[in-house]
Amino acid sequence: MRKNIKNLTLEELKRFYISKEIEPYRSDQIFHWIWVKDKSDFKEITSLSKTARLKFDTFCEIPILKTIKKLTSKDRTVKFLFGLHDRKRIESVYIPTKKRKTVCISTQVGCALNCSFCMTGKTGFKRNLAAWEIVDQVRRIQSEMGKRLTNVVLMGMGEPLLNYNNVMKGVKILNSDMGMNIGARKITISTAGIVPGIRALGKEPLQVKLAVSLNAATDKKRDRLMPINRRYNLNTLFKALEFYYEKKKKRITFEYVLIKGVNDSITDAKALAAITQHIPCKINIIPLNSIGSSSYRSPDMEKVKKFIEFLYPIAQAVTLRQSRGNDIHGACGQLRSKR
Ligand code: SAH
Repeated sequence: MRKNIKNLTLEELKRFYISKEIEPYRSDQIFHWIWVKDKSDFKEITSLSKTARLKFDTFCEIPILKTIKKLTSKDRTVKFLFGLHDRKRIESVYIPTKKRKTVCISTQVGCALNCSFCMTGKTGFKRNLAAWEIVDQVRRIQSEMGKRLTNVVLMGMGEPLLNYNNVMKGVKILNSDMGMNIGARKITISTAGIVPGIRALGKEPLQVKLAVSLNAATDKKRDRLMPINRRYNLNTLFKALEFYYEKKKKRITFEYVLIKGVNDSITDAKALAAITQHIPCKINIIPLNSIGSSSYRSPDMEKVKKFIEFLYPIAQAVTLRQSRGNDIHGACGQLRSKR
């Protein structure tokens, strides 16, 4: 069987070639052709001699995600549907603004967490993505859009910290200066609150950003919205976040999806300010995006304003996430593996 070299960090590629008695400098060269020049066929790696190309081709393979569909929103957000080798599918989203070109990528096919307001959980969990499948979403979108991407958020389908090793390997590949060279500080890992993953991330040397989907400030409410809270409750979660902060000294982002009549009252805002006050953070308010036949509704703009106006003076930092790509079902919580 040929080795999938796209699934290797530069270090691993080096070691692999050494084991095959190939000069280590070849690994830099090939890594660059894969991730910078976006080649997936040795025939096109023209810095290699013809004989070398043939030889590498016999024992190495460079797979590629298949772009099945591209949907462009009125607001220029683009949703990509990618096909995997086992015919499963994932979605990723390109989000351009004046300052940034962000991609939101998936880390799993489906999701096991089943948060009650999120579409991705409805189809259940299928499998983890391999590191190369995580990174190739970024590579494909950069090539298709013809624009250098500035930010990567792991906020698509799946729970990144339940696919920890592949995600970390993917981040290393993305971050490599011989490859796509996306700064670690421009990469955000978003979690529903997987406590062992947060603690492990705290010990990693890479300076990636951490976002936590909080969505409720009491266990009673959070248990209902996010079943994972029954496993890792708010107390356990915040202890892990304090540990993370002690290690990294990096501000955490809390995401709070605002749902009409569920978590949008002034009492909720008070509880949210209180629970987050001891940890350096920013709170990102996301008015719910509608999903399928769910009975959850988005709060009226008036209510969103009130919530934020109340929260703003008593919390450390509050932002409102402008929802993008709603018309193509590319907004937060709307990604799924089948259409
Ligand atoms: N599992 C990780 C990564 C997915 S991120 C996590 O939970 O953080 C997806 C983000 O979209 C989360 O912050 C989630 O709270 C938010 N989200 C899910 N469904 C949504 C919806 N219907 N409307 C708005 N945001 C939603």
